[in-house]
Amino acid sequence: MPAAVAGPEIERLIQLLARLPGLGPRSARRAALFLLKKREQIMGPLAGALQTALEKIQICSVCGNIDTRSPCTVCTDPRREPSIIVVVADIADLWALERAHAVNARYHVLGGTLSPLDGIGPDQLNIRSLISRIAEGGVAEVIIAVNATVEGQTTAHYLTDQLSGFAVKVTRLAHGVPVGGELDYLDEGTLAAALRSRTVF
Ligand SMILES: [Zn+2]
Repeated sequence: MPAAVAGPEIERLIQLLARLPGLGPRSARRAALFLLKKREQIMGPLAGALQTALEKIQICSVCGNIDTRSPCTVCTDPRREPSIIVVVADIADLWALERAHAVNARYHVLGGTLSPLDGIGPDQLNIRSLISRIAEGGVAEVIIAVNATVEGQTTAHYLTDQLSGFAVKVTRLAHGVPVGGELDYLDEGTLAAALRSRTVF
């Protein structure tokens, strides 16, 4: 291990920054140095924002989203269509769908996907709370928006099965050619899925 170039407080800051996604030890050192240089403009406000977020964050009791209030901002937004629930595996997926402005609905965050090998079964995910929401009524459609991976599709099948007893339309994302994509570059799985889910002009 190389000799420390800074006191333990700064070394600790670097170590913690290095745990952030996308930041290795090298970029963590750069970020730490940037913060130290910009104490007034960036480091102080960032420390304050982190502390405030830490004190206020809660998991939404309705949908599993993370916010500073529960029920969350999404669940309490009166402009959203309350009869459509988009089921996602992770909050990152909720944010991605919101960035795309693709749907003006409410969400349900599962907290992962079914993965028996990793010990993740239905009880480890927010599935029971989803069923309760559907059972309460008022939901016409459940859109299952999960990854096109084995775990994602296993989860989609399981949910479809669980929801089959309710008077609710269950839909899922289409799999196919990405916007701007060229057929020649697609893998066989994507191409086959696109052909299976073809639509009429
Ligand atoms: Zn919510």
